[in-house]
Amino acid sequence: MLDVIIIGGGPIGLACGIAAQNAGLSFVILEKGCLVNSLYNYPSTMTFFSTSEKLEIGNLPFMSTHNKPNRAEALEYYRRVTFQYHLPIRLFEEVKTVVPNNGAYQVTTCKAAYQAKKVIIATGFYDIAVNLNIPGEDLPKVKHYYKDPSYYTMQKVVVVGSSNSAIDVALETYRKGAEVTLVIRGPEISNRVKYWVRPDIINRIEEGSIKAYFNSSLAAVREHEADISTPNGTVTISNDFVMAMTGYKPNFNFLRQTGITLTEDKFIPTYNPDTMETNMPGIYLAGVVVGGMDTHLWFIENSRIHADMIINDIMAKQ
Ligand code: FAD
Repeated sequence: MLDVIIIGGGPIGLACGIAAQNAGLSFVILEKGCLVNSLYNYPSTMTFFSTSEKLEIGNLPFMSTHNKPNRAEALEYYRRVTFQYHLPIRLFEEVKTVVPNNGAYQVTTCKAAYQAKKVIIATGFYDIAVNLNIPGEDLPKVKHYYKDPSYYTMQKVVVVGSSNSAIDVALETYRKGAEVTLVIRGPEISNRVKYWVRPDIINRIEEGSIKAYFNSSLAAVREHEADISTPNGTVTISNDFVMAMTGYKPNFNFLRQTGITLTEDKFIPTYNPDTMETNMPGIYLAGVVVGGMDTHLWFIENSRIHADMIINDIMAKQ
């Protein structure tokens, strides 16, 4: 019987592990992929919008040679943190169910079953893409995850969305020689786009290097074409790849199966914001999983404090 099981080995799951260790609790972190799996799967060229000290956990300094760290530096930082604290983490072990069991919880993974008095769910939101729900979305050329721009050289690429991810994809693939068309639901490039990137994309659109359809949506995709629904009617363009950068969402089914209730509109889970405990006594939420569909409100920056909030509550109740 462990004191705590932490589900998810992302930055916040690791922060919870450090807090549990500092409090003398027995625990294990269960991670379905590699260490900091979400960060590993980010674009290889990705730069954080946060400065490195805002991504720190466990009071260990995050040194970066740039004013904003990149993915490779973050992978190295969180690996060093894990090794420094000797965190007990089991990788490539996905949690399937969390079931109440005599006042504690049975946590069953693809490899084993565990018993714990408390469970912390820190599963993030990067595993499930928000679909477009349009004909042709299941074609292999439609992608929700993006790794590297060089793959798209000399290709006709439609990028859907106006978030940071979409704009990064548009600019990077354009600079590797892709012919880029942006499809944006709103009337302009989002104000949430990194302040040093926004002028770049606006200038590329104004000079005609990147074509953008505003107040528009992608309506259908076929093997060699895409239909864009614009205020002036449907436009059909020749197309090789669609990058649907329409966001990601937490695994709501997993939360529901665990007994956690969600709001009807944005699927925000029920939790006490002072303790992070959910409506299931002894089950806590940590990190960006708390945001429901409002994923843009939560970051490493503002959710790393969940770790101490949770462990303080667990200790206070012991
Ligand atoms: P994650 O890092 O997503 O960790 C959750 C972990 O849980 C994953 O490793 C996943 O594999 C694992 N998991 C899921 N389900 C299971 C299961 N059933 N069993 C076992 N393991 C499971 N934030 C910032 O503060 N600053 C930034 O600059 C910034 N830039 C970002 C850029 C991009 C492109 C994206 C997508 C996000 C960015 N964020 C940023 C947000 C932040 O990086 C992530 O949301 C961060 O990873 C959140 O940490 P987390 O530990 O809550 O979740």
